[in-house]
Amino acid sequence: MNKQMNAVVYKKNGQFVLKKRPVPAILNPTDAIVKVTLTSICSSDIHIKHGSVPKAKPGIIVGHEMVGEIAALGRDVKGFSIKDRVTVNVETFCGHCFFCERGFVNNCTDQDGGWALGCRIDGGQCEYVRVPYAENGLNHIPDGVSDEQAIFTGDILSTGFWGAKISEIHAGDTVAVIGAGPTGLCTMLCCRLYHPARIIAIDTDPFRLALAKKEGMADITVNPQTENPEDILKSLTNGRGADVVLEVAGGTDTFQTAWKIARPNAIVCIVALYEQPQILPLPDMYGKNLTFKTGGVDGCDCDTILRLIAQGKLDTTSLITHRFSLANALEAYDLFEHKKDHVIKVVLKP
Ligand SMILES: [Zn+2]
Ligand SMILES: [Zn+2]
Repeated sequence: MNKQMNAVVYKKNGQFVLKKRPVPAILNPTDAIVKVTLTSICSSDIHIKHGSVPKAKPGIIVGHEMVGEIAALGRDVKGFSIKDRVTVNVETFCGHCFFCERGFVNNCTDQDGGWALGCRIDGGQCEYVRVPYAENGLNHIPDGVSDEQAIFTGDILSTGFWGAKISEIHAGDTVAVIGAGPTGLCTMLCCRLYHPARIIAIDTDPFRLALAKKEGMADITVNPQTENPEDILKSLTNGRGADVVLEVAGGTDTFQTAWKIARPNAIVCIVALYEQPQILPLPDMYGKNLTFKTGGVDGCDCDTILRLIAQGKLDTTSLITHRFSLANALEAYDLFEHKKDHVIKVVLKP
C-alpha cells in the first residue's frame, strides 16, 4: 500500500494540521493495520497541542481513541482476521514483561510500551493506523455493538473502569466522583457496576452535572461554586463523609476536596492528571487513615468492557455531543478545545 490518506498531524507546539500521509504498512510480525471507521478527540490531544506532553513527537499523527476494521495482519497475530471489527487500546503492551504479567500494562517496559499511539508513534486521527502488539492492543467488537457504542472502550472508558475497579467499592457505599468531564462521567458509569447506594457528582459546570443526573450516572450533584461538598457529603452520611472518592478533575483545589470529603479509612483514588504538584497535608489528615491510589490506566479490561456494552450495562453514547468528518477535524478541535456548545465528546468519521 502506498496510497495517501488524510491525517491530523502534530506539527509543533501549538499547532495541529491536516495533511496527506502515506497509508501505513506492517513493520513487525506482531503489527496490524486497522482501517479507522470512527475516532475521537481526547483532552490529552489538547495537552499535546499545547506542548505539555514532553514525550509527544512533532510530526506524528495524533489520535488514540478509535475503532475500525482490520485491513492487514502481521504473521504472528493470532485470533484476528481481515475485516474483523475492533477497538484499539490507547496503551501498547508486550504482554510478557514483569509488569504486563501482573496486569500493570501501563508500566510495560517494552520500548513501545504505555501510551505510544498518537503520542510517540502515529495514531488514529487518520484513515489507517498501525497497531503494534496487535494481539494485546485490539479487541473484537461484539455483533450488535455500533462504532459509537464502542468508541471509548480503549481510552476513557478503560480509565473509568480501572478507576472503579481499584477503588474497592462495596454495595451500599456512598461514592463521590470529582469531575463530570468525559472521563469523570465514564468513571461514574463504571462505579455503578458495583452497586453503591449513591453516586455524587462534583463539578463546576451545571450543564455537565445536569447530564450526569439525567443519564443516571449520578444520583446527587454538587457545584462547589455554590455549595460546600464537604458539608453535603457529611450530611448524607451521618457526619462521616464518602466511603470512596474518585478525583477525576485535576483542578487547582480538587485534590484538597478529595481527601476532605472522604470519611476516615476511605479509599481516595486519583485518576486525574495534574499540571502542578499537589500538597499532601499529612498533619491535617492525621488519624483519618486514608488510603490513596494513584496512576494511569492499566487498560487491559477491554473485552470485559465490550461485553458489558453488549449487555447494555455500559452506555456512553450520550457523551457524543458532536460529530464531524475527518476532513473537518480542525473545526472539531476548535470546538472541543474551547468547550463551545456544551461539548462533551467529539467523534470524527474518516
Ligand atoms: Zn485520551
Ligand atoms: Zn510489557
